[in-house]
Amino acid sequence: MKRSYLNLAVADGNTYDVMVVGAGVFGAWTAYTLARNGARVLLVDAYGAGNSRSSSSGETRIIRMGYGADDIYTRWSQRALELWRKFDEETGARIFQRTGVLWIGRESAQNSRETLATLKKVGVPHKALARAEIEKRFPQIAVADGEFGIYEPESGALMARRGVQRVVEEFQRVGGTYQVAEIEMPAGKGHVSALTSWSGENFRARNYVFACGAWLAKLFPELLGRRIFPSRQEIYFFGVPPGDRSYAAGNFPTWLDQTSETYGIPDIEGRGFKVASDIHGSAVDPDSIERVAGDTLPLVREYVARRFPALRNAPVIESRVCQYENSSNGDFLIDRHPDLENVWLVGGGSGHGFKHGPALGEYVARLVLDGGETETRFSLASKQTVQKRTVH
Ligand SMILES: Cc1cc2nc3c(=O)[nH]c(=O)nc-3n(C[C@H](O)[C@H](O)[C@H](O)COP(=O)(O)OP(=O)(O)OC[C@H]3O[C@@H](n4cnc5c(N)ncnc54)[C@H](O)[C@@H]3O)c2cc1C
Repeated sequence: MKRSYLNLAVADGNTYDVMVVGAGVFGAWTAYTLARNGARVLLVDAYGAGNSRSSSSGETRIIRMGYGADDIYTRWSQRALELWRKFDEETGARIFQRTGVLWIGRESAQNSRETLATLKKVGVPHKALARAEIEKRFPQIAVADGEFGIYEPESGALMARRGVQRVVEEFQRVGGTYQVAEIEMPAGKGHVSALTSWSGENFRARNYVFACGAWLAKLFPELLGRRIFPSRQEIYFFGVPPGDRSYAAGNFPTWLDQTSETYGIPDIEGRGFKVASDIHGSAVDPDSIERVAGDTLPLVREYVARRFPALRNAPVIESRVCQYENSSNGDFLIDRHPDLENVWLVGGGSGHGFKHGPALGEYVARLVLDGGETETRFSLASKQTVQKRTVH
């Protein structure tokens, strides 16, 4: 959608076409896409792009196409992968790592059947692997009776913090303005003419996008305090034996185990073999949470010993605590603020949003610049106050 927004252009040299608050993966890609399409954009973040409190921080994130029957997210993943690859080609950044993705599930499970059907319908390269085929190809994995695999050879992992920071660099290279500042909630109703930072600066724009992850619940307490549910999530990196490359990218895939809601990423850049539980942890405040892991370690160790027996005694060489910013069912939130006509709310990544950054940026940029209605399932009206996860 390359075009110029000169018709929006600055009557007043200090007014931006769009101000994006939050430089996580959603805000960074939204700002970059807007700027590439000729808009004059300001991007701000309270702690800095890819900071350790943001959901988009950390080493790596999975990019997979399978989403059960939810073909909207399969299609978005496809588009996002195309755009991440294009970004790598244009910048030489190497954010995408093509490791392949292996789903481990029960042959009889509805979700496995639905994932296979959707991948086929949407045209995603994949292969169903019988238990014996998984064991032959990846003997590091212990597979139980009744389990099988779905292998996506084109999918893999994304370098998370590095990716977000690189997108923000490119955003600036194409003319965007980036600044560290904490923005206050806009007051009143109707048209917002300026936003203010806690340190007293004023920022003027025609449209505002709040892509503030878990902070959306704090910034808009009445509207979103009971609709965005930040949860504590832990990640562990296990150390493999010296000289052993069998758990490294190239020899081992990124994987998701549907039988136990656990997932992991092979050793990339010597970081270790990543393992984490996808089960939602306790409610957290993203500003003040102490990020020292340990709660899920017994569960994760027991899992590693069962699924990857040779790593039974592998030491934890690094751990992290991050937060998901869940919507009630896992669908994204992309909608106008109901009382502020030129304010957009973007978030609800719900533990699966990172991969979609470029596709979401494209979607939001189009909505903000061209207007129009958001997809029903991304609407504010669809967000409930009780959690019932349906998107995984
Ligand atoms: C442990 C973990 C594992 C995950 N694994 C995967 C995965 O494998 N694959 C996948 O696709 N997704 C995954 N996700 C989900 C994905 O990372 C998130 O959905 C995504 O990063 C959310 O991005 P965001 O931009 O909405 O939020 P964030 O990255 O949190 O960014 C929000 C930004 O807003 C800023 N901000 C907040 N308030 C203000 C303010 N008042 N003024 C200015 N700035 C402000 C913050 O500083 C922050 O940088 C995972 C998430 C976690 C936590």
